[in-house]
Amino acid sequence: MTRWAWVIDQTRCIGCHACTTACKSENDVAVGVFRTWVKNVEVGTFPEVKRHFAVLRCNHCAEPPCVDICPVTAMYQRPDGLVDFDHDSCIGCKACMQACPYDAIHMDPDTNTAAKCNFCSHRVDEGLLPACVVVCPEEALLFGDLEDPTSKVSRALGEHLVQIRRPEQGTRPQAYYIGAHSATLDPLAARHDATYMWADRDPRDARDVSPPQSRAHGPPAATEPARVAYDVPRQRAWGWPVSSYIWTKGLAAGLGMLAGVGRYADLGAGSRVVQLVAPLVALVFLAVTGGLLVGDLKRPERFWTILLRPQWKSWLARGAFIITAYGAALVAWVALAYVRSDRGLDLLAPPLIVLAALSAGYTAALLGQCEGRDLWQSRLLLPHLLAHALVAGLAAVIVAGQVADVSVTNRLRYLFVVAVLVTAALALADALGKHRTPNAAAAAHALTRGSQARRFWLALAFGGALPALLALAGGAAPLVAAAVLALAGLWLHGHAFILAGQGPPIS
Ligand code: SF4
Repeated sequence: MTRWAWVIDQTRCIGCHACTTACKSENDVAVGVFRTWVKNVEVGTFPEVKRHFAVLRCNHCAEPPCVDICPVTAMYQRPDGLVDFDHDSCIGCKACMQACPYDAIHMDPDTNTAAKCNFCSHRVDEGLLPACVVVCPEEALLFGDLEDPTSKVSRALGEHLVQIRRPEQGTRPQAYYIGAHSATLDPLAARHDATYMWADRDPRDARDVSPPQSRAHGPPAATEPARVAYDVPRQRAWGWPVSSYIWTKGLAAGLGMLAGVGRYADLGAGSRVVQLVAPLVALVFLAVTGGLLVGDLKRPERFWTILLRPQWKSWLARGAFIITAYGAALVAWVALAYVRSDRGLDLLAPPLIVLAALSAGYTAALLGQCEGRDLWQSRLLLPHLLAHALVAGLAAVIVAGQVADVSVTNRLRYLFVVAVLVTAALALADALGKHRTPNAAAAAHALTRGSQARRFWLALAFGGALPALLALAGGAAPLVAAAVLALAGLWLHGHAFILAGQGPPIS
């Protein structure tokens, strides 16, 4: 059995970028994106400064999270360890970009599908070496079979101490480095300025590199000052459509939960509002959720392949089925509520509540599969998403009650206050608590003190504290204002959370 691997000898690399250009030429890589690149980091203080290089690319991890998260098996691992991709299957969801902890994947602007280093599989399968290996003038790039003890990679591994990138991610990279400076392999060790040697940078990318003191929960920062002198631009995979999808889905889920719970307890907003209007509004927001999901795909016309040939390990695929089942349950519920079938509603209530909770909560598992975004790996995310859905559902019921001219009782008012405060407390605890990795700490820093701080604190103040006070003040108008503010706060917090998670560099 063959097991392909790289050994990258940084003691030989001269930073000539020949590998980058050979890769671009061999694989027709578009302008502005890269399958491999040479990061330059300057270490030291003038005049004692030295430039170090690191050739970065896909590690062909033995346990590749990009493969697990792909909903349609467009990213896959071959028996020989090579992690390859299929342009013809990819739906452009960009989840693999979030799952890769090494920034190795980009969206190919020519095909609108995911692409990365694939060991030049078309050459390797013909018995040829990858293009970068052939072109390297220093023989710094070694490629071969780890199962063959006479191969160059096996011999190099036997003769040298080697490093891998970000071992804490547990992906077992199959790209081994010899003599790389830690400031080149640790994405947070070196400072990123607004410009590089030959390039301007998107200033947003520089803002979320945390200062060393925020790395308190990770390994110590580099002892010498280090600055990235050259790197390639990275694509930001998820933006407002994903934040909005979490919000609309939470709203739809919360309303369905309340409709189901309303069979067992008087929620205090009129049974017709809770039993019929709420699930109808839930259906509308579930449809918007589907629209946002499909609209954010780079290849939306291929969306159906998630349902037709799902990759079952992916929470994106599982989520598509959960949402579909929840939508079907809501349609049945609305029909039963319309004909006032108490028996049917009683039977449907338990599965509706479960499907609503799954719809709200599965995103925690999906974000958990995004191994490149440590902030999203939080254990508090599931309770937060469930509380978020409850707040959204209660807020929508309050507004619907006002529109339908049904006065809500103090029971619903106090439930709303408690749900708002619990959601805000979970958000605070998540952001200000201890973080497992330097990347998570840096992202939390971005959330509370960096690029997303304004959104985060506005969300907590005007979407958490103020709605609770307004709701306690009494009166219909303050309660409706509280509901609207809480809904706005949920979106704002979700947006800040999604952007902050993608802030710190990972390569
Ligand atoms: Fe390559 Fe990243 Fe996938 Fe690992 S997780 S195999 S580095 S793309």
